[in-house]
Amino acid sequence: MFVLLKEGVTESEVRGVLDSAEALGVSEASVTRAGKRTMVRVKGGAAEQAVRYERLAGVERVLPSDAPYVLAARATQGCSTEVAVGRALFGGTRVEFIGGPCAVETESQLRTAAEAVAKAGARMLRGGAFKPRTSPYAFQGLGERGLELLRKVADEFELAVVTEVMAPEQAVLVAQYADMLQIGSRSVQNFPLLEAAARTGKPVLLKRGMMSELDEFLASAEYILARGNQQVVLCERGVRSFDKHTRNLLDVMAVPLLKGLTHLPVVVDPSHATGRSELVAPAAYAAVAAGADGLIVEVHDEPEKALSDGRQALRCAEFQALVQTARAIATAIGRCV
Ligand code: PEP
Ligand code: MN
Repeated sequence: MFVLLKEGVTESEVRGVLDSAEALGVSEASVTRAGKRTMVRVKGGAAEQAVRYERLAGVERVLPSDAPYVLAARATQGCSTEVAVGRALFGGTRVEFIGGPCAVETESQLRTAAEAVAKAGARMLRGGAFKPRTSPYAFQGLGERGLELLRKVADEFELAVVTEVMAPEQAVLVAQYADMLQIGSRSVQNFPLLEAAARTGKPVLLKRGMMSELDEFLASAEYILARGNQQVVLCERGVRSFDKHTRNLLDVMAVPLLKGLTHLPVVVDPSHATGRSELVAPAAYAAVAAGADGLIVEVHDEPEKALSDGRQALRCAEFQALVQTARAIATAIGRCV
């Protein structure tokens, strides 16, 4: 079972829980810390022993050992988690915008997009340097050169950088350049990658797998939290469906559902959710109306020449128009922008 301790629990109270576990003869008891929370995981104790722990000083509640996630659960923490990335703050009242190309292609392509993104009022730049492509023959990204360009161009416009990390051994390198590590849809259950990203201490943008149930998605987030990194932003990006008119099916209700299940911020990617530029704005507006804490949108100055995902990229002016309308919706539902 999981013995969740109160915020501000003292070391001697933690010790008290461990001593009680030992006295009750459990096979193993270990301490996990994430942000302000501390949890003692007890293996091998009988369920009836829960009340024994509940009475101890510093204990907030006891959860059963089959709970798929504990640290990520809304019940674990009264207030919502706020994740700061550069000037952006996810999980507060503001709706944050992240814009940029699917992939970093050239310095001038990135700069044009970054300039438009900053002008629209967004605080973060996206762009893939390591690209997870379905075909091994498709453009795979510029690798470290792409990371260098992201850092350089983002700094010119005071933007923070989010970019994907695909392999555990890349995590340290990507963290040298990026302000936030993205874990893509295809990697949501790459557990060594989740742990490697967590260990960098950088905020993580965790995208929902195209076939993830919400509980599985939150269990993936729990991997990061359980490694002591609470700076996680969840991203709904559409799930696989049977209809071919859109690339994926945007699960708009995942936003209010997740916000009830977890204290972590939730953003939406209307680009990968729809796969079609003309559907990106309506999907984005629905997401903001449903309570999303932010949007991540693909932007390209010449979508017809893009090396990846041109069909879903917004032109610079289209992104600026999207931000304006999304802000009006955000204001209408009491969010600040
Ligand atoms: C991306 O955002 O660059 C991306 C590849 O998205 P996803 O992992 O959601 O497919
Ligand atoms: Mn893309």
